[in-house]
This record gives sequence, C-alpha cells and structure tokens, in this order.
Amino acid sequence: MAGEKMLEGKVALVTGSGRGIGRDMALMMAAHGARVVVNDLGGTAGGEGEDRTPAMEVVSEIKDLGSDAVANYDSVADFQAAEGMVQQAVDAFGRIDIVVNNAGILRDVIFHKMTEEDWDSVINVHLKGSFNTSRAAATRFREQQSGAFIHMTSTSGLIGNFGQANYAAAKLGIAGLSKSLALDMERFGVRSNCISPFAWSRMIGTIPIADETQAARVEKIKQMVPAKIAPVAVFLASEQAANVTGQIFGVRNNEIFLMGQSRPLRSVHRGEGWTPETVAEHAMPSLAASFYPLDRSQDVFSWDPV
Ligand code: NAD
Repeated sequence: MAGEKMLEGKVALVTGSGRGIGRDMALMMAAHGARVVVNDLGGTAGGEGEDRTPAMEVVSEIKDLGSDAVANYDSVADFQAAEGMVQQAVDAFGRIDIVVNNAGILRDVIFHKMTEEDWDSVINVHLKGSFNTSRAAATRFREQQSGAFIHMTSTSGLIGNFGQANYAAAKLGIAGLSKSLALDMERFGVRSNCISPFAWSRMIGTIPIADETQAARVEKIKQMVPAKIAPVAVFLASEQAANVTGQIFGVRNNEIFLMGQSRPLRSVHRGEGWTPETVAEHAMPSLAASFYPLDRSQDVFSWDPV
C-alpha cells in the first residue's frame, strides 16, 4: 500500500525530538521504517537546564513501535556535538539519510529590550544549530549521493510577529540556508525543504495572554496538535519526494500550504537614472500600489484552522 514503510532502511536524525512537533516526526518516521537518533537537550522553552527524560521516553516509544532508536542529549548549538549526532547515527545504524532541524527555543521580548544574550541564544540554537547538523551530514550525503534535509521555519520570520526579532531573523535565515543547501547539493542527489508548522506545543504556551481576544486565539491554536505536522515530514524524507526540493510548506492541522518565495513584484525605471526627488515623485507612488501591509502571521492566516 502506498505510504506504508516509506522510510524502510533509512536513518534519521531529528533534533529536539523529545517533545512537541519533533517527537511526533520521530515517531512517525519510525512507524514508517526509519531508525532514529532522538536528539533533545531537554531544556526549558527558553533554553535553560537539561533533562534526559524526554529523549529517553521517545526512544522507548519508538522501540515499542518495533523500530530502533538511540538518544542523544547534546545541544545542536555546539558544532562538535552536532558532528557527534551524525556520527552516532552512523555508529548505531551504519548510515544517515535524513536530518530534521527542529530543535528550538524562544526568547520573546520587544526589540528595544532585547539583550545580546536573547539574540545570541536564539540564533545559536535555530540558525547555527541548523547549520551545524546540516554541515555534519553534508559530507556523508555527498559521498552516498543522497540525503534529505528538513528544516523548521516559521511564519514569524516568513511573515512577521511582535517581540520575535531574534526568532524571526533565525527562521528567515533557515529558509535561506535551506534554499542554499538545495542549490549546492542538488548535483549530489540531496534535497532540502522547509516546513513552517502551526501546532500547539509548550513553545506556543509561552505566548503571553493579555486579553480575551488573545485567550480565544490560544484556544484555537490548542486544537492544532503537533502530530499533524509529521506526515509532510515523512513524505519529504522519502524517495517519493525525489522531485521536491527548495520549497517551503506551511502545515496547520489539516491544511498544507505551498509558501511563496521572494520575487520582484513591480518595477519602475527612468532612462536617465534616479535622483532622490524623482524617487519620491515617481518611483514610490508607483511602487506603493504594491506595498505589503505591516502584517503579522495571524493577519495573513486569518481563518480558523481546518
Ligand atoms: P518544543 O519546545 O515543544 O520542542 C522543542 C524541543 O527542542 C524541546 O524538546 C527542547 O528541549 C529541544 N531543544 C531546545 N534547544 C535545544 C538544543 N540546543 N539542542 C537540542 N534540543 C534542543 O517546541 P515545538 O513547538 O515542538 O517546536 C519545534 C520546532 O518548530 C521549533 O524549531 C519551532 O521554532 C518550530 N515552530 C513551531 C511552531 C508551533 O506552532 N509550535 C510554529 C513555527 C515554528
């Protein structure tokens, strides 16, 4: 039957898979035949502390499914440790086929109060972490002439949100990383795609609830379970996605979106070139017809999840 054991024989590293979206992706990959390195540092949503329990529990759940898994408790933000995650996959299962960059933390704060630490910690886990694991796997992917990268981006970066300059920059950076990987590694049969998920997890639980409108919004988000993201990730990791690379898919409950990527919308030119005055008089009035409003994610995804 189509869809059954789609990942038979494959080995996946899923970062931050002790909880939330990562956990469900690891479980579904295992259910479809993959052996999995379950990486999770086990920190708080803000990235403090460590706890081995979440990763250990997912490993035993995967074993219960009849597949195999090993736990890894290191931080994706550490380049050597990320190298170790890929090495652990090779040592335990003989290969690496799939890297899912999912580990993440939030340090939400309005921009003028954002500290260097808030910035660095979020960039290091999301953007640097995604580079670290990808770079570690890239050498082997090239040698074996195959491999699939799946990175978690966010509409906080692709569209916008309040109080998330660090996270938005990291997540839009990840979209750039994914596209670059897709371009650089196509010649080796390696693919790279992004998922922009919407799901209730403890990470979303950190959204401050200031009023009734926000409380109602959070109630709706709670209906979107993390397990709904996993089927797209399993597909993207499989041979059936051979022609799918360099794309960004939004996944929200029972909806799947192909997200846009930046292209010129409109242009103006003057044979003699521009002065600041002619930019003001001619260029801007013409381009302004196509300006984007200062949208946040929820302004664009303005209907309830299906
Ligand atoms: P989550 O907090 O439930 O899970 C993230 C996991 O990553 C945690 O178990 C955490 O311990 C682990 N982690 C954090 N830092 C780590 C590190 N340095 N090394 C290894 N593991 C680490 O969050 P989630 O909602 O499941 O988020 C998963 C991914 O999806 C994140 O990249 C997040 O930015 C992205 N995302 C989620 C949503 C959503 O609606 N939940 C929306 C957009 C993007």
